[in-house]
Amino acid sequence: MMKSAEEYRESLRALKPRIYLGGSLIESVADEPRFEPGINATGITYDFALVDDLKSTMTTSGLDGKPTNRFLAINRSRADLQDKLEAVRLTCKVAGCAQRYLTHDAFNALFEATWLINETYGGENHARLLDYIQYAQTNDLSIGIAMTDGKGDRSKRPSEQDQPDSYVHVIERRSDGIVISGVKAIITGGPYMHELLVMPCRRMDKHEKDFAVACAVPIDAAGITIVSRPAGRPGNPAAKFSAKFAQAVAVAHFDNVFVPYDRVFIDGETEEAHLMTTNYATHHRHSCIGARAGFGDLLIGAGAMMAQANGLDYLKVPHLREKMVELIKITEGFYACGIASSTMGVHDAAGNFRPDQIYANIGKLLLANQIYDMHRLAHDVSGGLVVALPGPEEDHNPVTSAILSDVLRGHPDVPYEHRANVSRFIEDLTASETGGWYSVISLHGGGSPEAMKLEILRNYDIEARSDLVQALFDRGALEMGKGIKVDRQPGRCCAKGCQGDGLVSGKDT
Ligand SMILES: Cc1cc2nc3c(=O)[nH]c(=O)nc-3n(C[C@H](O)[C@H](O)[C@H](O)COP(=O)(O)OP(=O)(O)OC[C@H]3O[C@@H](n4cnc5c(N)ncnc54)[C@H](O)[C@@H]3O)c2cc1C
Repeated sequence: MMKSAEEYRESLRALKPRIYLGGSLIESVADEPRFEPGINATGITYDFALVDDLKSTMTTSGLDGKPTNRFLAINRSRADLQDKLEAVRLTCKVAGCAQRYLTHDAFNALFEATWLINETYGGENHARLLDYIQYAQTNDLSIGIAMTDGKGDRSKRPSEQDQPDSYVHVIERRSDGIVISGVKAIITGGPYMHELLVMPCRRMDKHEKDFAVACAVPIDAAGITIVSRPAGRPGNPAAKFSAKFAQAVAVAHFDNVFVPYDRVFIDGETEEAHLMTTNYATHHRHSCIGARAGFGDLLIGAGAMMAQANGLDYLKVPHLREKMVELIKITEGFYACGIASSTMGVHDAAGNFRPDQIYANIGKLLLANQIYDMHRLAHDVSGGLVVALPGPEEDHNPVTSAILSDVLRGHPDVPYEHRANVSRFIEDLTASETGGWYSVISLHGGGSPEAMKLEILRNYDIEARSDLVQALFDRGALEMGKGIKVDRQPGRCCAKGCQGDGLVSGKDT
């Protein structure tokens, strides 16, 4: 049954996770003010799914045919992908980061991988996953994605680390389940999730079977310690957005955590685990596009309001008009990649619908770099007040408040209080600790830019483009009517390609 945000918050009380925040053990996650913005932001995904007008975007059919949250569903069509993208934008333009689409991305990535495992080796992995997805849908769960390992020394492989717990791995296989240990370094919303989905974050070699593990654990499973940061800037009256909506990120240390087999989806199947990792990256980068488009909506709106509060009509002042268009171009530019990625998506072997990899990666790469341009444009349009405005305590200072509200007014029809609110809102989103958070999540969330470049090169058919040019040469189309000439590059002398002198053709070179 689908929960409301309040029911979601209440459901957290049944759990007893071991969570440290600011050096202390947390008694009750649901009542912890420093997690409040995170519970609010995640709660948006619950409440929006109950709003009649939003149901077609925010819900779909679950495995049992009953309505379920879009973020817990398996994609079956282009329309599903497009709706998911919309749902991410819809929730993130209110919540900043709504977390739960990560679960969608993980379920969809595991769907094909577990199906292939069972096609290749037999077994029950896919059936176990389906049972788990059904359990998540029935109970409308929030599930943290524990993928990014601590990684240790980046120049070494998981199996070569001095500290074996740098990566989560299987340390024992029993008749009824596995035991895992290790660290997952960055988990959005970790403390206020019901469960964690553990998945490998990179390709594992054949001898690294113990590291190729995907499984689900309750957040309060014995042996899990979570060390978290607060969600946003709770309790800070200057934090006009992130005192209400934000996400905590947390480290989770797994110390001899037992996982029964019915929650183990991948255990040692290195090839399929790698497929899962790349599929997750594609689904998640597609989601990141929707999330940051929501952030763009907030900046565009706030930028326009700030210009007006400053007394300027951004439609009439040429350079402000140009900057607003730039902000729109950036936001809708990478969002268009999300739409293209949905439209050009394909059914995978298991029947799940997957976003097009090229457009998902290009869209994420665009936003990873352009988030900094978005901040710059918002700063440019707004002015220095976004970091210079006296703090909210001055709003109630009997000595200064009346003067400040008089002399710091811009447009005569816009009250100072409004200008101050918009200014603090922009500061919060772009120039505060929260602003930095949005930069770094845009850059690294879903993988660092280099990972996207590799995926683009891996999937883009450059050879087909070379063939196109070669075909033009072969037809004499570029000879300006002077006849056909034999004009081939080494390695492209025939359809098969030569193999001599170290020159080889083919995609794998
Ligand atoms: C706010 C936020 C929320 C996140 N939420 C989640 C979440 O919910 N779940 C989750 O699993 N992850 C999450 N992530 C993690 C995210 O996926 C990672 O940050 C990302 O994959 C990069 O990994 P890293 O941070 O370990 O950086 P690194 O991998 O250390 O990368 C740092 C730099 O080193 C380079 N580099 C790294 N290794 C090598 C190498 N061997 N050779 C050459 N260059 C290398 C990278 O290209 C990059 O330039 C989140 C991240 C952020 C910032």
